[in-house]
Amino acid sequence: MPPVPLLLAGAGHAHLVTLQRWRAEGYHAPVGSCLINPTAQAWYSGMLPGLLAGRWQAEQCCIELAPLCAAVGVSLRLGEITQLDANSQQAQLADQSRIRWQWLSLGVGGAPQAPAHNDHSITLLPAKPFAGLYQQCRTWQQQNAPQRLAIIGGGAAAVELALALARLLPATQLNLFSAGPLLAALPARAGNLVRPLLRQRGISYHEGVTVTGIQNGQLWQDTQVIGAADAALLASGNMAPHWLADSAMTCDATGAVRIQPNLQSSSHPTVFATGDCASLSACPHNGVQAVRQGAVLAENLSQVLCGDQATRQFKPPRHSLALLATADEQAIATRNGIALRSRLALRLKDRLDNGFIRAIRGD
Ligand SMILES: Cc1cc2nc3c(=O)[nH]c(=O)nc-3n(C[C@H](O)[C@H](O)[C@H](O)COP(=O)(O)OP(=O)(O)OC[C@H]3O[C@@H](n4cnc5c(N)ncnc54)[C@H](O)[C@@H]3O)c2cc1C
Repeated sequence: MPPVPLLLAGAGHAHLVTLQRWRAEGYHAPVGSCLINPTAQAWYSGMLPGLLAGRWQAEQCCIELAPLCAAVGVSLRLGEITQLDANSQQAQLADQSRIRWQWLSLGVGGAPQAPAHNDHSITLLPAKPFAGLYQQCRTWQQQNAPQRLAIIGGGAAAVELALALARLLPATQLNLFSAGPLLAALPARAGNLVRPLLRQRGISYHEGVTVTGIQNGQLWQDTQVIGAADAALLASGNMAPHWLADSAMTCDATGAVRIQPNLQSSSHPTVFATGDCASLSACPHNGVQAVRQGAVLAENLSQVLCGDQATRQFKPPRHSLALLATADEQAIATRNGIALRSRLALRLKDRLDNGFIRAIRGD
């Protein structure tokens, strides 16, 4: 089989923005270009806590990929990459088929990591993929909700999920275990705003504890028992898919592909990477950065597909706005060291989230 001109791997945020930009510009990808994704929809993470808290319906939080791809001449192939060889420029899928590429763009995200020692005595639910998280939480809502649910993680996603699950599963006792202070990546005031909220909603939290093992339904930090649970939600420690580190590309300690500011792999120039599966200095892993990378990716991919150099550079902004839904009528907004909680922040979050979905859908 001849190589495809462009293989888009995963419907990550930057790929959605790339396809949206190309549609707006009337650009058509070279014939044979394709997007591979395990599902026909892409979930928008920013709205997931609101979905679990009952503020949104599932169809408001996902994007159908087929019309977006069709608009720019990219075919959608449902499948999952399981192996990559960047030297011979080919990918292997779960169904054992192979695809060779001229240009590859990776937007496959990452997933939280399970504790190193795990005897599988309790259900472990990773926060990603989102479809699995949503389905399991809905099942728990209808039947057999765990009595004690541990939430492993203390960043924005873990806190938002804890607050949302307190609404969805009111009879479940929630215990949050954070390796560092809560919301450590945000201004300290954000943590100060969130602690009383967690207490008010009956969510216990433990800061400065790392869950290193799960045995007989107990959570361990090294040799010490730190809690017990019937199920645990994994919401920390993003790791890129393991096959990236085996691909011959230069990767960082989390398995994310090291990229240059133009989003090209620093070791293999036929590969671009964005979002949580890419590693660029001073660029944190979150949806906001991945979305911003999308505009740069759209331009650079169309340049290389025309035989030019990828010239546009991505510069991570020094300060960006973070908005955390608190599963009520308010949200916490942080920027430049300031944090506040208000109704206005939730209105802004809703406007930005809905605006993103509408822009990608082309509504
Ligand atoms: C609950 C939660 C809430 C969050 N809220 C926010 C927020 O409000 N703001 C914010 O900035 N960040 C938020 N984040 C972080 C944000 O979700 C991630 O940083 C963001 O999703 C990264 O996007 P991405 O483009 O790298 O990949 P993803 O959005 O994870 O997309 C990856 C895509 O690749 C596909 N894929 C995966 N493996 C394969 C494979 N092997 N082969 C082919 N396709 C594959 C997946 O199905 C998916 O479609 C949140 C995270 C969580 C867990």
